Amino acid sequence: MPNTRVLNSELRINGDRLWARLEELALIGATPAGGVHRLALSATDSRARDWFQGQAEQIGLVVSIDGIGNMFARREGTDARLLPVLLGSHLDSQPTGGRFDGPLGVLAALEAVETLNDHEVITPAPIEIVNWTNEEGARFPPAMMGSGVFSGRFSIEDAMASVDPDGITVADAIDEIGYRGPHPIGKHCLGAALELHIEQGPILEERGCDIGVVTGVQGTRWFDLTIRGEETHAGPTPMARRTDPVAVLGSALVSMYHRVEGEFLPDGRLTFGVISTKPASRNTVPGEVTLTVDIRHPRNDGLDALEACVKEEVAAACALRNAKWDLKTVWASVPIQFSDRCLSAISEAADGLGYSTLELMAGAGHDSVHTADVAPTGMIFVPCKNGVSHNESESITFEQAEAGANVLLHAALTLANPNDR
Ligand SMILES: [Zn+2]
Repeated sequence: MPNTRVLNSELRINGDRLWARLEELALIGATPAGGVHRLALSATDSRARDWFQGQAEQIGLVVSIDGIGNMFARREGTDARLLPVLLGSHLDSQPTGGRFDGPLGVLAALEAVETLNDHEVITPAPIEIVNWTNEEGARFPPAMMGSGVFSGRFSIEDAMASVDPDGITVADAIDEIGYRGPHPIGKHCLGAALELHIEQGPILEERGCDIGVVTGVQGTRWFDLTIRGEETHAGPTPMARRTDPVAVLGSALVSMYHRVEGEFLPDGRLTFGVISTKPASRNTVPGEVTLTVDIRHPRNDGLDALEACVKEEVAAACALRNAKWDLKTVWASVPIQFSDRCLSAISEAADGLGYSTLELMAGAGHDSVHTADVAPTGMIFVPCKNGVSHNESESITFEQAEAGANVLLHAALTLANPNDR
C-alpha cells in the first residue's frame, strides 16, 4: 500500500466541517437578526457547553471542568514531561452578540485537533482546547472572569459573589446549570496558549490582510474627572463674573484633543463616555461637571504621557477661570506584550500557508490577557466585516475562518513539538 501520510507542513483543516460546526453552534441562542443571545452561565450557555463537550468527546478528547466552569478538552501528547499547549476562547456572548466572537477560537481549535486525528499526527506535548467562562462580562462583571480566576488575577470568592441585574450570583448560576467542576483551579500549568479571534476592528480589512499577528493588548486607565466652579443664576450673572466648569471643560477638551491628535497618534486613545453637570438645571450655571476619562496606549510610557496631558490641560484651563479639579483613578490594566516564541510560531505558520500578515495590537480585552500572566501566549486575528462586533450583524467569510484555523493548527504544531527547533 502506498504511503498516503501527508507531511505535517501539508496538513490543512477541513473548512466545511469548521463552518458546519460554527453554524450548528449559532443555533443555540440564535436571535431573529442572525446573532446570538448566550449570556454566561444561562440555560443557553449550558446548552452550548453540553454541545461542545459532546463534540470534543466524539473526537476522543477528555473534558475536565474547573471550579469556575472553565472547560478543558485534552488530547494527550507522547512526552509526559511536556506541558499542554492550550487553544481556545469563549462560547458566551453579548446580549445581542455575533456568532463568531469567541466561538471561532474554540471551534477552530476543535477542528485543528480533529485534523491531527484524521492524519494520525502525534505531538510530544498534549493539546488542550479551552472554553473560558464568562469572557464577555455582560451578565456578571468583570469580563474575562474564568481566565482571570485561572491565572490568579481574580479570587474565586469574588467571582462567585458577582451578581447579575436580577440579583443572581455566579455561584447560584453555575450550580443551577451544573458547571461547577472538580478540576482544581491554579494547579493547571501550560506550556503555551494560543487564541484565534475576529479582529473586532477595521484594520485587517482596510489593508486587505488575511491574518493579524497580535503583538499585545493595549493598556487602559479609567478616571473620574471633576471640575468645580460656582453655581449661579443663568440670567443675571454676567459671563465675565462666572466660574463656569463647563466653559473650563470646553477649553480643556479643545487643547486635549489637539495634543492627542498631534502627539499621540496612531496609538493613543482618549474618550469621555459620560459627562454630567450638577445641579443639572437648565437655568443654572452648573457648579460642577464630572466626566469619565478612558485613555489607552500600547506602552506604559504612552499611558503616562496621556495621563500627564489630561492633567496639564485641565489644570491650565482651571487656572484661567479660577476653577478647581480632581482626577480619581477608577481602574487600570497594564499593556500586555505577547510572547516572541508564540508570535514567531504564528508568523511562520501564516507565511508557510501563503497568507498575508500584519502585526497589530488588540484594542479590546481578551482571555489571552490573563493567560499571558501564566504562560507564553499569542493571538491570531482574522478580519471581520466592516470591523463590526458585539453586534448581531457581525460576520466573517468561510475563507477567513479557514485561514485562521489553518494558522492556528500550524502554530500549535510548532509549539507542541518544542524539540524540533
Ligand atoms: Zn471575544
